[in-house]
Amino acid sequence: MRLSTLLISTLRDDPADAEIPSHKLLARAGFIVKIAAGVYTYSPLMWRVVRKFAQIVREELDREGANEVMLPIIQPRELWVSSGRWDRYVTDGIMFTLKDRKGSEMCLGPTHEEVMTTFVDAQVNSYKQMPVNCYQIQDKFRDEIRPRFGLMRGREFIMMDAYSFDADDAGLDVAYQKMRNAYCRIFERAGLDYTIVQADSGAIGGAGSEEFMVIADTGEDAILFCKSSGYAANVEKATSRLPEAPDGGEVRAMSKHETPGVKTVAQLEQFFDGWVAGRMAKTVLYHATWRDREAVVAAMMRGDLEINEVKLVNALDALSVRLATDEEILKATGAETGFAGPVNLKDDVQLLADLSLQGRTNLLTGCNETGYHCLDVNLGRDCRTPEFHDLRLARAGEGCPISGAPLEQARGIEVGHIFKLGTKYSSAMGATFMAKEGKPAPFVMGCYGIGVSRTPASAVEQHFDDKGMVWPVPIAPFECVVAMLDPKRDEQKVLADRLYAELAEAGVDVCLDDRAMSPGAKFKDHELIGLPVQVFVGRKAAEGEVELLARKGMQKSECAADDVRAKVLALLGR
Ligand code: ATP
Ligand code: MG
Repeated sequence: MRLSTLLISTLRDDPADAEIPSHKLLARAGFIVKIAAGVYTYSPLMWRVVRKFAQIVREELDREGANEVMLPIIQPRELWVSSGRWDRYVTDGIMFTLKDRKGSEMCLGPTHEEVMTTFVDAQVNSYKQMPVNCYQIQDKFRDEIRPRFGLMRGREFIMMDAYSFDADDAGLDVAYQKMRNAYCRIFERAGLDYTIVQADSGAIGGAGSEEFMVIADTGEDAILFCKSSGYAANVEKATSRLPEAPDGGEVRAMSKHETPGVKTVAQLEQFFDGWVAGRMAKTVLYHATWRDREAVVAAMMRGDLEINEVKLVNALDALSVRLATDEEILKATGAETGFAGPVNLKDDVQLLADLSLQGRTNLLTGCNETGYHCLDVNLGRDCRTPEFHDLRLARAGEGCPISGAPLEQARGIEVGHIFKLGTKYSSAMGATFMAKEGKPAPFVMGCYGIGVSRTPASAVEQHFDDKGMVWPVPIAPFECVVAMLDPKRDEQKVLADRLYAELAEAGVDVCLDDRAMSPGAKFKDHELIGLPVQVFVGRKAAEGEVELLARKGMQKSECAADDVRAKVLALLGR
């Protein structure tokens, strides 16, 4: 490929809206061009990267016996009604919907469980035809609340989504493990430093869900991990050993105290001598939304600990929660914010509590009266017994649930997600096969996603320096460039042409930079674009000398033209 015929357009400055390195660099190098918030065009160089990564994905999935298909992007409403997801996705606002000329509602696929289930249901009638695993690599559409970070969180983005269909749970376990292995090989081959973490499987529940995270400071997810036990989990899902708190002692009689203006745990610690946060139960009011209703609920947590809202949503089996407003709190409890508690809580307010409060005696709590708190509250005696759930946010420094060693925290970019669905969709949609016993049974499904546009961006996030991108060889737009610094000089042109041909012959994915531009600008362009190996043919061409640059670490060396082939192959690790 001659770069003079390839559309390359690097910019001098980072775009104003770019906050993280991959977004800045991809945009500055002209790899992506924004069309609308979260919607990008991929340049020829970027598209080469995406295609190389997609090819790795294909090879590893095909190796596990998965079938590539292509599903429609545009989907009818009825399909989503049949799985019970239309309302939720519409209410969430995540789904792009439209009407056709007849007025029928459609959507642009944010994910494809429904379509794939319909497809496989039509094709597979008997347990004898399974296992089946189908995938596609295609654009997805999600009207994200905050599209940002370039390709990291787009509204149109490329995803590989795979779906496995088995006759039973044992089959699903095998399918899941195969995909997990394929994912490991995919991210390893792409040259990424990744971690597998336990993930929240949301209201779907199910047997398991894991995320593949690329560790990077700019990641939107927080991960807790323990090096000694190997435990790693998304903070949304993570648990830890319960930190110690002073014992409440023998049950005492409850007493009510005036606490004017004293609202927070810290203020209460100051106000009541000896009542440290670990002896308090704070009551946080949330506004929760379900499919068919909404309500304000009360969630109790030990005073020194925090609530994990994802766990709360799961415990409530709700669609979402948010902190209640002052007005909602006043309406639900009769008191101003800062005085809510289990004592005298109205019957119609659902009361949940974290496991850290189970069995604890003599707590300090609010009592739903502005300006008052109670001491020596005993749950079940002085108020309703709450529903106990794990609602606690695990934090760095707390004990690993397995080893007890302090948990460490890191930021991660979710590049892949694997998920045991079970029969959630097949049951809802009536997708069945004839089981061994001669009766129809719903398919046991798994689903598996990889961010095909997000992953290359996260590769940049892990591989860049102050000069530009440093592409890992397997997904670099080209592995090597041979650049003639002055294409007008014959000896440079002849030598560059020769080296380019030799490298191509040796199987190197090489391009020839024959563009007419100043040597300085050419060097800068290639620093920014970051191809792994760069060969510059300049003034010493007549003597048969060129300059070789390994982009990682910017290691430059002089090289005899006759040695270029061997040296380039060595630098590429061949
Ligand atoms: P996130 O938590 O980041 O919003 P998700 O859990 O909603 O992602 P999945 O439905 O699991 O995403 O999608 C599978 C994969 O698709 C993700 O692991 C991620 O790599 C990628 N992906 C999801 N949303 C986006 C997006 N808006 N832009 C780019 N890639 C995305
Ligand atoms: Mg996910």
